[in-house]
Amino acid sequence: MGDKFDFIREEMAALKESGLFIHLRTIGSAPGPWMIVDGKKVLNLCTNNYLGLATHPRLVQAAHEALDRFGVGPTAVRSIAGTLTIHVELERKVAEFKHVEDALYVQSGFCANQAAIPPLVGREDVIFSDRLNHASIIDGCRLSGAKIIVYEHCDPDDLEAKVKENLPNYRRGMVITDGVFSMDGDVAPLDKIYEVAERYGLITMVDDAHGEGVLGHGGRGIVDHFGLHGKFDIEIGTFSKAFGVVGGIIAGKKVVIDYLRQRARPFLFSNAVTATDTAACMAAVAVLSESTELVDRLWENTRYFKGEMKRLGFDVGRSVTPITPVMLGEAPLAQQFSRRLFEEGVFAMAIGYPTVPKGQARIRVMVSAMLSKDDLDYGLEKFAKVGRELGVISG
Ligand SMILES: *Cc1c(COP(=O)(O)O)cnc(C)c1O
Repeated sequence: MGDKFDFIREEMAALKESGLFIHLRTIGSAPGPWMIVDGKKVLNLCTNNYLGLATHPRLVQAAHEALDRFGVGPTAVRSIAGTLTIHVELERKVAEFKHVEDALYVQSGFCANQAAIPPLVGREDVIFSDRLNHASIIDGCRLSGAKIIVYEHCDPDDLEAKVKENLPNYRRGMVITDGVFSMDGDVAPLDKIYEVAERYGLITMVDDAHGEGVLGHGGRGIVDHFGLHGKFDIEIGTFSKAFGVVGGIIAGKKVVIDYLRQRARPFLFSNAVTATDTAACMAAVAVLSESTELVDRLWENTRYFKGEMKRLGFDVGRSVTPITPVMLGEAPLAQQFSRRLFEEGVFAMAIGYPTVPKGQARIRVMVSAMLSKDDLDYGLEKFAKVGRELGVISG
């Protein structure tokens, strides 16, 4: 006789069989260029700490000061007694940094999508969504109850065809795209998407989680990269990647942000972000506002690493950003590659279905400004060694 959780046992066995079971590695140090993973010191090619801000002295100092002043927890949701002076100050600073009218700080980028989408569209409405949009966008769309129509990846012509055919059947429409696609490192054609949206009066939203701190002048993000200031209604962002901290941001037109303060459910029903995190976020924005040095170094490292990987014969996909997918195909090969790299002192995780489509398993390298030329060369040497050993590259 089986029991009621046999379905779980079967599914877990299938995951292990197909090389898709996620083995958690545990981190025993700060996410610097080298870190302790499962008790071993390895080169960090894996975290989203693009600029090294997670350990930046100014962020750490700001967090310490806020901790002493505000204590450890805000102890209320933002709309009741959880809005700290520094939450409001951070929102103002981010709005300034991104050249938008207003911004709302929420618990995470994932939360930001849950917070922003459902108040704006409902059952009578339609959302046009890029095929490869992030899971948190997809969930935010589902939560809204709106009809979701998927258009082909980064394809404004397909978007337009689908808008033309479907929009008349709904009350209003919205288009949502990732800015930088997190698994491939390609960039949405935001200017073309805006033209379509403008022609049909769609609400426009872009999730810039991997673009902030990376694209645009001094890391101001994808809207800045395309010179579309004031044209995108909502920019979703996160403080958990290039900014090195945690928290989500919804930035854009004041009329929208004011409305979300009344209607966004994670804002109304879940505790505010801690003062320590908030203060660290503010210091991150200050660091980026003052100098483009870290962003410049990130791009220098990116050009070097990707150029060398291509020269070695690796397929690094269609990335145009520091995200460097090393395409391997089948999931078991990607897992084996990652394991061998780890034995050689390099931390770079394998990524498979459902995070990426079946048959497109890969190792995703995250280039960072904090890596020295020696660090990058160490990583390249190990990639070459394991690549030859597993027959991925020749020579
Ligand atoms: C990482 C990511 C998120 C989630 O951000 P968190 O702050 O980690 O919750 C949301 N959207 C996109 C596109 C992302 O890449």
